[in-house]
Amino acid sequence: MALVDLHTHPSAHGETGFSLENVEQFVLRGIARGCSDLGFSDHDMFLAGLKQEILANLQAKYPQINLRLGLEVDYRPGTEAEIRQKLAPFPFDYLIGSVHEVGGWIFDHPDYMDGYKKYRGDDLYREYFTLVGQAARSGLFQVIGHPDVIRVFGFKCESPLLELARPALEAIRDAGLAIEINTNGRYKPVGDFYPAREVLAEAFRLGIPVTLGSDAHEAANVARDLEEAVDLLKEIGYRSIVSFQKGERIAYPL
Ligand SMILES: [Zn+2]
Ligand SMILES: [Zn+2]
Repeated sequence: MALVDLHTHPSAHGETGFSLENVEQFVLRGIARGCSDLGFSDHDMFLAGLKQEILANLQAKYPQINLRLGLEVDYRPGTEAEIRQKLAPFPFDYLIGSVHEVGGWIFDHPDYMDGYKKYRGDDLYREYFTLVGQAARSGLFQVIGHPDVIRVFGFKCESPLLELARPALEAIRDAGLAIEINTNGRYKPVGDFYPAREVLAEAFRLGIPVTLGSDAHEAANVARDLEEAVDLLKEIGYRSIVSFQKGERIAYPL
């Protein structure tokens, strides 16, 4: 079975760093879980801590796994030029564009739950998916991260989820991007992978490639539940998953 994990955070939320010892633990876990590709995608706020020589050293030490350099970038409309300029010096294999904020409010953090009270009906989901569409069209990313993470705390929309998500999926398809199955949602209040099954099925219908991400913030969680994500993909009809090398997509048959 092909397994890749392109969504991992060695620097976590700043508690740990991109050190040789820490990154090596991620690599060992990725190997133990049978990943062909392991991608590091720290949050862009930790960009300064990325050390390419650490990855190069570990790649030489562990040739049995392909190590990829990525970044999870917070997408905020209007900051595209700034993002492009900031990231230009780095030889990323791929960039994950993620929406974690709507109108300056961080909706996926338990400290800011009050923000949900402002929203009724479909408004929040509409705003979220509009931003996802903009992220897709920005030309900055190869992958859209956790495509419906707006479900994280179980806040519901009124209309069917797929109806609200479809324009964003179409933007992703038109821009030629991939999405990920992010297994971490299972450990959040929503208790489900991102995206929801019906969204994934529509992505398949639209011909959108998929990659896999555990969103591990510690080595123990690298590649967590990815076999199950692969089973889901196969059920839906997917026959391959993708990884990236220097921005180019690589497909692995499932
Ligand atoms: Zn994220
Ligand atoms: Zn993440």
